[in-house]
Amino acid sequence: MHLSRFSRVQLAHLPTPLEFLENLSRTLGGPNIYIKRDDCTGLATGGNKTRKLEFLIADALDKGADIVITQGAVQSNHARQTVAAALKYGMACEILLENRTESSEHDYLESGNVFLDKLFGARVTHFPKNTDMDQEMEARAEELRSEGKNPYVIPGGGSNEIGALGYVDCALETLTQANDMGLRIDHFVTATGSAGTQAGLVVGLEATHSQIPLLGIGVRAPKQEQEEKVYHLACKTAEYMGIPGVVDRDKVIADSNYVGGGYGVPSDSMVEAVTLMAREEAILMDPVYSGKGLAGLIDYIRNGRFEENQNIVFLHTGGSAALFGYLDAFKLA
Ligand SMILES: *Cc1c(COP(=O)(O)O)cnc(C)c1O
Repeated sequence: MHLSRFSRVQLAHLPTPLEFLENLSRTLGGPNIYIKRDDCTGLATGGNKTRKLEFLIADALDKGADIVITQGAVQSNHARQTVAAALKYGMACEILLENRTESSEHDYLESGNVFLDKLFGARVTHFPKNTDMDQEMEARAEELRSEGKNPYVIPGGGSNEIGALGYVDCALETLTQANDMGLRIDHFVTATGSAGTQAGLVVGLEATHSQIPLLGIGVRAPKQEQEEKVYHLACKTAEYMGIPGVVDRDKVIADSNYVGGGYGVPSDSMVEAVTLMAREEAILMDPVYSGKGLAGLIDYIRNGRFEENQNIVFLHTGGSAALFGYLDAFKLA
Protein backbone atom coordinates (compact mmCIF):
# COMPACT_ATOMS: atom_id res chain seq x y z
CA MET A 1 0.00 0.00 0.00
CA HIS A 2 1.77 3.08 -1.24
CA LEU A 3 -0.32 6.21 -1.76
CA SER A 4 2.41 8.16 -3.51
CA ARG A 5 1.65 6.05 -6.57
CA PHE A 6 -1.44 8.23 -7.05
CA SER A 7 -1.50 11.81 -8.34
CA ARG A 8 -2.05 14.28 -5.54
CA VAL A 9 -1.98 18.03 -5.04
CA GLN A 10 -1.28 19.77 -1.76
CA LEU A 11 -4.28 21.42 -0.13
CA ALA A 12 -4.49 20.30 3.50
CA HIS A 13 -2.48 21.19 6.57
CA LEU A 14 -1.24 17.73 7.54
CA PRO A 15 -0.95 15.96 9.85
CA THR A 16 -4.03 17.26 11.65
CA PRO A 17 -3.73 17.16 15.46
CA LEU A 18 -4.80 14.14 17.50
CA GLU A 19 -5.82 15.56 20.88
CA PHE A 20 -7.12 14.29 24.21
CA LEU A 21 -10.45 15.80 25.29
CA GLU A 22 -9.85 16.01 29.01
CA ASN A 23 -12.90 18.05 29.96
CA LEU A 24 -15.42 16.15 27.86
CA SER A 25 -14.02 12.79 28.96
CA ARG A 26 -14.33 13.80 32.63
CA THR A 27 -17.83 15.20 32.24
CA LEU A 28 -19.14 12.10 30.50
CA GLY A 29 -17.35 9.83 32.99
CA GLY A 30 -16.71 7.10 30.43
CA PRO A 31 -13.76 6.19 28.20
CA ASN A 32 -10.92 8.55 27.26
CA ILE A 33 -12.07 10.55 24.25
CA TYR A 34 -9.50 11.66 21.71
CA ILE A 35 -10.33 13.81 18.70
CA LYS A 36 -8.70 13.71 15.28
CA ARG A 37 -8.90 17.31 14.13
CA ASP A 38 -9.83 17.10 10.45
CA ASP A 39 -11.75 20.31 11.04
CA CYS A 40 -8.20 21.77 10.94
CA THR A 41 -7.31 20.73 7.38
CA GLY A 42 -7.00 24.46 6.75
CA LEU A 43 -8.64 25.05 3.39
CA ALA A 44 -11.40 27.68 3.59
CA THR A 45 -12.36 26.76 7.21
CA GLY A 46 -11.34 23.12 6.73
CA GLY A 47 -13.13 19.81 6.88
CA ASN A 48 -12.91 16.25 5.63
CA LYS A 49 -13.47 16.92 1.92
CA THR A 50 -10.06 18.57 1.65
CA ARG A 51 -8.19 15.25 1.97
CA LYS A 52 -10.36 13.75 -0.79
CA LEU A 53 -9.86 16.80 -2.99
CA GLU A 54 -6.07 16.40 -2.92
CA PHE A 55 -6.56 13.30 -5.08
CA LEU A 56 -9.63 14.48 -7.03
CA ILE A 57 -8.15 17.82 -8.08
CA ALA A 58 -4.95 16.06 -9.16
CA ASP A 59 -7.03 13.72 -11.32
CA ALA A 60 -8.89 16.70 -12.83
CA LEU A 61 -5.57 18.36 -13.69
CA ASP A 62 -4.23 15.09 -15.17
CA LYS A 63 -7.31 15.06 -17.42
CA GLY A 64 -6.78 18.64 -18.54
CA ALA A 65 -9.97 19.96 -16.94
CA ASP A 66 -10.64 23.70 -16.89
CA ILE A 67 -13.82 23.63 -14.83
CA VAL A 68 -15.02 21.51 -11.91
CA ILE A 69 -18.67 20.66 -11.25
CA THR A 70 -20.05 19.19 -8.06
CA GLN A 71 -23.27 18.96 -6.10
CA GLY A 72 -24.54 18.82 -2.54
CA ALA A 73 -27.16 20.01 -0.09
CA VAL A 74 -27.56 23.79 0.30
CA GLN A 75 -25.19 23.94 3.30
CA SER A 76 -22.72 21.54 1.68
CA ASN A 77 -19.24 21.64 3.19
CA HIS A 78 -18.07 19.56 0.26
CA ALA A 79 -19.22 22.20 -2.24
CA ARG A 80 -17.43 24.95 -0.29
CA GLN A 81 -14.14 23.03 -0.10
CA THR A 82 -14.40 22.03 -3.77
CA VAL A 83 -14.84 25.63 -4.87
CA ALA A 84 -11.80 26.65 -2.84
CA ALA A 85 -9.67 23.75 -4.12
CA ALA A 86 -10.59 24.33 -7.77
CA LEU A 87 -9.77 28.03 -7.65
CA LYS A 88 -6.39 27.39 -6.04
CA TYR A 89 -5.50 25.22 -9.01
CA GLY A 90 -6.77 27.66 -11.60
CA MET A 91 -10.03 25.97 -12.50
CA ALA A 92 -13.49 27.50 -12.51
CA CYS A 93 -16.15 25.81 -10.37
CA GLU A 94 -19.90 25.35 -10.62
CA ILE A 95 -21.95 23.93 -7.82
CA LEU A 96 -25.46 22.54 -7.88
CA LEU A 97 -27.30 22.71 -4.57
CA GLU A 98 -30.33 20.60 -3.64
CA ASN A 99 -32.72 22.01 -1.04
CA ARG A 100 -32.90 18.66 0.75
CA THR A 101 -34.32 20.13 3.96
CA GLU A 102 -36.88 22.28 2.08
CA SER A 103 -35.90 25.17 4.31
CA SER A 104 -36.96 28.69 3.37
CA GLU A 105 -34.91 30.38 6.10
CA HIS A 106 -32.60 33.15 4.99
CA ASP A 107 -29.65 31.95 7.11
CA TYR A 108 -29.88 28.47 5.67
CA LEU A 109 -30.19 29.62 2.08
CA GLU A 110 -27.64 32.45 2.13
CA SER A 111 -25.28 32.29 5.12
CA GLY A 112 -22.60 29.79 6.19
CA ASN A 113 -21.30 27.69 3.32
CA VAL A 114 -23.46 29.39 0.68
CA PHE A 115 -21.96 32.77 1.53
CA LEU A 116 -18.46 31.28 1.20
CA ASP A 117 -19.29 29.55 -2.11
CA LYS A 118 -20.28 32.91 -3.53
CA LEU A 119 -17.37 34.76 -1.91
CA PHE A 120 -15.04 32.38 -3.75
CA GLY A 121 -16.80 33.26 -6.99
CA ALA A 122 -18.52 29.97 -7.79
CA ARG A 123 -21.55 29.80 -10.05
CA VAL A 124 -24.28 28.45 -7.74
CA THR A 125 -27.58 26.99 -8.95
CA HIS A 126 -30.41 25.74 -6.75
CA PHE A 127 -32.64 22.70 -7.23
CA PRO A 128 -35.66 21.40 -5.30
CA LYS A 129 -35.56 18.34 -3.03
CA ASN A 130 -35.40 14.95 -4.78
CA THR A 131 -33.88 16.30 -8.00
CA ASP A 132 -31.65 13.72 -9.72
CA MET A 133 -28.50 15.73 -9.05
CA ASP A 134 -26.15 13.37 -10.88
CA GLN A 135 -28.24 13.74 -13.99
CA GLU A 136 -28.27 17.53 -13.58
CA MET A 137 -24.47 17.56 -13.27
CA GLU A 138 -24.12 15.44 -16.39
CA ALA A 139 -26.50 17.71 -18.33
CA ARG A 140 -24.53 20.77 -17.30
CA ALA A 141 -21.23 19.07 -18.19
CA GLU A 142 -22.61 18.27 -21.65
CA GLU A 143 -23.61 21.92 -22.10
CA LEU A 144 -20.11 23.07 -21.12
CA ARG A 145 -18.50 20.56 -23.49
CA SER A 146 -20.61 21.94 -26.33
CA GLU A 147 -19.12 25.36 -25.49
CA GLY A 148 -15.63 23.91 -25.87
CA LYS A 149 -14.89 23.52 -22.15
CA ASN A 150 -13.43 20.47 -20.42
CA PRO A 151 -15.44 19.88 -17.24
CA TYR A 152 -14.50 17.44 -14.47
CA VAL A 153 -17.46 16.11 -12.49
CA ILE A 154 -16.91 15.30 -8.81
CA PRO A 155 -19.64 13.17 -7.23
CA GLY A 156 -21.49 14.38 -4.11
CA GLY A 157 -19.19 14.35 -1.09
CA GLY A 158 -16.22 13.54 -3.33
CA SER A 159 -17.04 9.93 -2.56
CA ASN A 160 -15.55 7.67 -5.18
CA GLU A 161 -12.45 5.47 -5.12
CA ILE A 162 -10.21 8.45 -5.88
CA GLY A 163 -11.54 10.70 -3.11
CA ALA A 164 -11.60 7.84 -0.60
CA LEU A 165 -7.80 7.59 -0.89
CA GLY A 166 -7.71 10.71 1.28
CA TYR A 167 -9.19 8.71 4.15
CA VAL A 168 -6.97 5.71 3.61
CA ASP A 169 -4.22 8.25 4.19
CA CYS A 170 -5.98 9.62 7.29
CA ALA A 171 -6.08 6.11 8.79
CA LEU A 172 -2.33 5.71 8.23
CA GLU A 173 -1.65 9.19 9.61
CA THR A 174 -3.69 8.51 12.77
CA LEU A 175 -1.98 5.16 13.37
CA THR A 176 1.44 6.78 13.09
CA GLN A 177 0.43 9.53 15.54
CA ALA A 178 -1.01 7.01 17.99
CA ASN A 179 2.16 4.90 17.78
CA ASP A 180 4.32 7.96 18.40
CA MET A 181 2.17 8.98 21.41
CA GLY A 182 2.03 5.44 22.79
CA LEU A 183 -1.74 5.61 22.48
CA ARG A 184 -3.65 2.32 22.13
CA ILE A 185 -6.81 3.08 20.10
CA ASP A 186 -9.70 0.80 21.07
CA HIS A 187 -12.36 2.30 18.83
CA PHE A 188 -12.57 4.77 15.94
CA VAL A 189 -15.82 6.71 15.46
CA THR A 190 -16.88 8.98 12.59
CA ALA A 191 -20.00 10.51 11.10
CA THR A 192 -20.86 8.86 7.77
CA GLY A 193 -22.82 10.32 4.86
CA SER A 194 -21.77 9.89 1.25
CA ALA A 195 -19.50 7.09 2.54
CA GLY A 196 -16.04 8.08 1.28
CA THR A 197 -14.70 8.89 4.72
CA GLN A 198 -15.72 5.62 6.35
CA ALA A 199 -14.80 3.60 3.26
CA GLY A 200 -11.29 5.05 3.11
CA LEU A 201 -10.79 4.64 6.85
CA VAL A 202 -11.88 1.01 6.86
CA VAL A 203 -9.55 0.20 3.96
CA GLY A 204 -6.63 1.84 5.79
CA LEU A 205 -7.42 0.23 9.15
CA GLU A 206 -7.93 -3.23 7.65
CA ALA A 207 -5.04 -3.19 5.17
CA THR A 208 -2.68 -2.41 8.06
CA HIS A 209 -4.28 -5.14 10.24
CA SER A 210 -4.72 -2.49 12.93
CA GLN A 211 -7.51 -4.49 14.62
CA ILE A 212 -9.22 -1.20 15.47
CA PRO A 213 -13.01 -1.39 15.09
CA LEU A 214 -14.59 1.50 13.20
CA LEU A 215 -18.11 2.80 13.87
CA GLY A 216 -19.92 5.10 11.46
CA ILE A 217 -22.77 7.21 12.80
CA GLY A 218 -25.19 7.70 9.90
CA VAL A 219 -26.64 11.09 9.04
CA ARG A 220 -29.04 10.14 6.27
CA ALA A 221 -29.63 6.56 5.07
CA PRO A 222 -30.90 3.67 7.22
CA LYS A 223 -28.28 1.29 8.66
CA GLN A 224 -28.41 -1.48 6.06
CA GLU A 225 -28.32 0.91 3.10
CA GLN A 226 -25.49 2.96 4.62
CA GLU A 227 -23.39 -0.12 5.36
CA GLU A 228 -23.87 -1.44 1.81
CA LYS A 229 -22.86 1.92 0.38
CA VAL A 230 -19.70 2.08 2.51
CA TYR A 231 -18.81 -1.57 1.82
CA HIS A 232 -19.27 -1.17 -1.93
CA LEU A 233 -17.02 1.90 -2.01
CA ALA A 234 -14.45 0.28 0.30
CA CYS A 235 -14.22 -2.69 -2.11
CA LYS A 236 -13.85 -0.37 -5.11
CA THR A 237 -11.18 1.66 -3.32
CA ALA A 238 -9.19 -1.43 -2.34
CA GLU A 239 -9.39 -2.70 -5.93
CA TYR A 240 -8.25 0.67 -7.25
CA MET A 241 -5.28 0.48 -4.90
CA GLY A 242 -4.41 -3.01 -6.05
CA ILE A 243 -5.30 -4.69 -2.75
CA PRO A 244 -8.73 -6.25 -3.45
CA GLY A 245 -10.47 -8.16 -0.68
CA VAL A 246 -8.85 -6.43 2.31
CA VAL A 247 -12.20 -5.42 3.81
CA ASP A 248 -14.66 -8.00 5.15
CA ARG A 249 -18.33 -7.04 5.12
CA ASP A 250 -18.60 -7.40 8.91
CA LYS A 251 -15.97 -4.67 9.43
CA VAL A 252 -18.39 -2.11 7.99
CA ILE A 253 -20.68 -0.97 10.80
CA ALA A 254 -23.06 1.97 10.70
CA ASP A 255 -25.61 3.09 13.28
CA SER A 256 -28.35 5.31 11.86
CA ASN A 257 -30.28 5.85 15.08
CA TYR A 258 -29.13 9.46 15.37
CA VAL A 259 -30.43 10.83 12.06
CA GLY A 260 -33.49 12.31 13.79
CA GLY A 261 -36.00 13.96 11.46
CA GLY A 262 -33.84 13.47 8.36
CA TYR A 263 -30.68 14.65 6.62
CA GLY A 264 -29.79 18.18 7.71
CA VAL A 265 -32.79 18.47 10.03
CA PRO A 266 -31.67 19.60 13.49
CA SER A 267 -32.27 17.18 16.38
CA ASP A 268 -32.26 17.82 20.15
CA SER A 269 -29.36 15.43 20.68
CA MET A 270 -27.32 17.22 17.98
CA VAL A 271 -27.95 20.60 19.65
CA GLU A 272 -26.95 19.12 23.00
CA ALA A 273 -23.78 17.57 21.54
CA VAL A 274 -22.67 20.71 19.69
CA THR A 275 -23.33 22.85 22.78
CA LEU A 276 -21.55 20.43 25.11
CA MET A 277 -18.43 20.29 22.91
CA ALA A 278 -18.41 24.09 22.61
CA ARG A 279 -18.67 24.61 26.36
CA GLU A 280 -16.35 21.79 27.52
CA GLU A 281 -13.63 22.03 24.87
CA ALA A 282 -14.24 25.24 22.87
CA ILE A 283 -14.35 23.12 19.71
CA LEU A 284 -16.92 23.88 17.02
CA MET A 285 -18.87 20.94 15.61
CA ASP A 286 -21.41 21.14 12.79
CA PRO A 287 -25.18 20.63 12.84
CA VAL A 288 -25.47 18.11 9.97
CA TYR A 289 -22.66 15.59 10.41
CA SER A 290 -20.15 15.87 13.26
CA GLY A 291 -22.85 17.12 15.68
CA LYS A 292 -25.02 14.07 15.04
CA GLY A 293 -21.96 11.80 15.05
CA LEU A 294 -20.98 13.18 18.44
CA ALA A 295 -24.57 12.78 19.68
CA GLY A 296 -24.22 9.09 18.80
CA LEU A 297 -20.89 8.79 20.61
CA ILE A 298 -22.30 10.51 23.72
CA ASP A 299 -25.29 8.17 23.74
CA TYR A 300 -23.02 5.12 23.43
CA ILE A 301 -20.95 6.37 26.38
CA ARG A 302 -24.02 7.06 28.52
CA ASN A 303 -25.29 3.58 27.77
CA GLY A 304 -22.01 2.03 28.88
CA ARG A 305 -21.14 0.66 25.45
CA PHE A 306 -17.44 1.46 25.96
CA GLU A 307 -15.26 0.51 28.95
CA GLU A 308 -13.90 3.27 31.18
CA ASN A 309 -10.27 2.37 30.44
CA GLN A 310 -10.77 2.41 26.67
CA ASN A 311 -9.43 5.06 24.31
CA ILE A 312 -11.86 6.28 21.68
CA VAL A 313 -10.83 8.40 18.70
CA PHE A 314 -13.62 10.55 17.28
CA LEU A 315 -12.91 11.97 13.85
CA HIS A 316 -13.88 15.63 13.66
CA THR A 317 -14.91 15.96 10.02
CA GLY A 318 -15.35 19.75 10.17
CA GLY A 319 -18.31 21.78 8.96
CA SER A 320 -18.47 24.59 11.51
CA ALA A 321 -19.27 27.08 8.72
CA ALA A 322 -22.69 25.41 8.50
CA LEU A 323 -23.48 26.53 12.08
CA PHE A 324 -24.25 29.97 10.66
CA GLY A 325 -26.92 28.44 8.46
CA TYR A 326 -28.60 26.95 11.54
CA LEU A 327 -28.83 29.81 14.06
CA ASP A 328 -32.49 29.11 14.84
CA ALA A 329 -31.83 25.50 15.85
CA PHE A 330 -29.87 26.63 18.90
CA LYS A 331 -32.40 28.89 20.67
CA LEU A 332 -29.65 30.77 22.51
CA ALA A 333 -30.77 33.63 24.73
C1 LIG B 1 -19.31 15.30 4.13
C2 LIG B 1 -19.17 15.38 5.61
C3 LIG B 1 -19.18 14.21 6.40
C4 LIG B 1 -19.43 12.85 5.86
O1 LIG B 1 -18.39 12.32 5.11
P1 LIG B 1 -18.72 11.32 3.93
O2 LIG B 1 -17.43 11.00 3.34
O3 LIG B 1 -19.66 12.05 3.01
O4 LIG B 1 -19.40 10.13 4.53
C5 LIG B 1 -18.99 14.36 7.76
N1 LIG B 1 -18.82 15.57 8.32
C6 LIG B 1 -18.82 16.70 7.60
C7 LIG B 1 -18.66 17.99 8.30
C8 LIG B 1 -18.99 16.65 6.21
O5 LIG B 1 -19.01 17.79 5.51
